[in-house]
Amino acid sequence: MPAELVCFESRCRSRYPITEIIYNCPRCGGLLECEYPGRKADPAEWKRLWRQRRMNNGKLDQSGVWRYREMIPFLDDWAAVVSLREGNTPLLEAPRAAAYADIERLAFKHQGFNPTGSFKDNGMTCGTAQAIRLGMKRVACVSTGNTSASMAAYASAAGLQSIVFLPHGNISYGKLAQALEYGARTLQVEANFDQILALVRVLAERLGIYLLNSINPFRIEGQKTIMVELMDQRDWEAPDWVVLPGGNLGNVSAFGKGLREMLELGLIRRSPRLAVIQAAGSAPFYELMRSTDRSVLPKVERPETLATAIRIGDPVSWPKAKHEIEASNGVVEKVTEQEIADAKAQIGLCGIGCEPASAATLAGIRKLRAAGVIARNADVVAVLTGNLLKDPDYIYKYHTKQLQAPGGEKIESTFANQPAVVPNDPDRIAELLS
Ligand SMILES: *Cc1c(COP(=O)(O)O)cnc(C)c1O
Repeated sequence: MPAELVCFESRCRSRYPITEIIYNCPRCGGLLECEYPGRKADPAEWKRLWRQRRMNNGKLDQSGVWRYREMIPFLDDWAAVVSLREGNTPLLEAPRAAAYADIERLAFKHQGFNPTGSFKDNGMTCGTAQAIRLGMKRVACVSTGNTSASMAAYASAAGLQSIVFLPHGNISYGKLAQALEYGARTLQVEANFDQILALVRVLAERLGIYLLNSINPFRIEGQKTIMVELMDQRDWEAPDWVVLPGGNLGNVSAFGKGLREMLELGLIRRSPRLAVIQAAGSAPFYELMRSTDRSVLPKVERPETLATAIRIGDPVSWPKAKHEIEASNGVVEKVTEQEIADAKAQIGLCGIGCEPASAATLAGIRKLRAAGVIARNADVVAVLTGNLLKDPDYIYKYHTKQLQAPGGEKIESTFANQPAVVPNDPDRIAELLS
C-alpha cells in the first residue's frame, strides 16, 4: 500500500516520499502528515480481523497499536516494529466521577496503563519503527517529561541510542528518572526550550540523529489508534464526546485524524465531538479558538501550571488541532489549578487515579456541563493521558494541605485524605476508627 508524507497546509499540500527525513514541509515550513492514497477498507472484514487478533500471541497482534495496522500502513516491512505491548488500555466506567461532573455516564479511556505510563507509548512505537526503517542509529527529543521516558524505553528495546535534551535546572524528577533508567543520554543545556529545539535541529542534521519530537508525523499515526481501540471497545458506537487535555496538541490532532479516517473508511457512522481542556495558566489554544482571528496563535511567554505535561506556551501542532476542533464541531475549555486538583482527587476516589494533566478532563467536563455545552445525558469518554505514579509529590501535598499553585497561591485540599499519627494503643485506634 502506498504511503506518502503530505504538507498539512491546504495552500501547499506538497507531497514527499515516506522515507524522506523531514520534520516540516521543505517548501512552506508547514506540518507534515502521513497519507495513504487509494486505501480502501472492508469495514466488516477489518473489524472481524482486529477482534480475532486479540486471541493471537504474535507480537504485532498483541500490541494495541499494531493490531490495527491497516489504519497505519506506513511501513513496508513489519520486521522494523519494536513493541512493548503498548495500547490495550482499559475503558473504565466511573459513575462517581460522572456524578461529580453532573452527567449521567462517563467512562475513562486510561492511557496511563501503557508500558511507560502514558499515551506517548502509542506514538513512540511508530516513531521508533520509522527510525529503524530509515536505518538511523540514534534518536532524540527535547522534553522533560513523558516523551523522554517513552522514547528512552523504545530506543533501548530497539537497540538504538537515545538522547534527551532538556533545559538546565528545569527538571521533573519522576519522569526524568524513567529516562535515566531506560538508558537515555541526558543532556542539560543552558538555554530555554525554544533555543534547545533550534540547537537540536542543527545537531540532528549534522550527526544523523532522528528526531522524535511531538511534530513527528509517525508518532501521530500511532496515537490515532487510541481512537480505533476505543471504538473497538464500544463495538463501533461512537460516544457524543471525547474529552482530552491539550499541551502541544499532538494528541487531539491524532484523535481527529483517526476519527475522520474511520468515518471515511466506513468503520463508524458518526464522529464524536472533541473537547480539549487546557490549564488556565497555559491556554494559548483556548485563546486562539475564542479569537475572531484564528490565523495567529497567541503564544504564552511564561506558561504556568502544576500539570507539567500540558505546560506549553507555544504548541507546535496548533494548525492541525484547530482543523480537528472545527471538523468535529468541538470545543476548547480552560480550567484552574484548583479545579484540576479537586477533579484529580475525585478520579482517585473512583479507584482509578491519574497524573494532574489528565484530571483537567474531568474538571473541563464539569465546567462544560455547568455551561450547558455538554448535556446531562450525553455519552462522554475522557482520555486519562498519564499514570497516577508519574507525580506522587503533587498527590502527597494535596492530601496534606501543602499544595501551592505556581504563583504561590494556596490550593484548597477540598477532598483531603490526611494520614494520621496514632499511638500504639488498640483502644485509642478502635475509638478513632469507630
Ligand atoms: C504529552 C501529554 C499531554 C499533552 O498531550 P499533547 O499531545 O502535547 O497535547 C497530556 N497529558 C500527558 C500525561 C502527557 O504526557
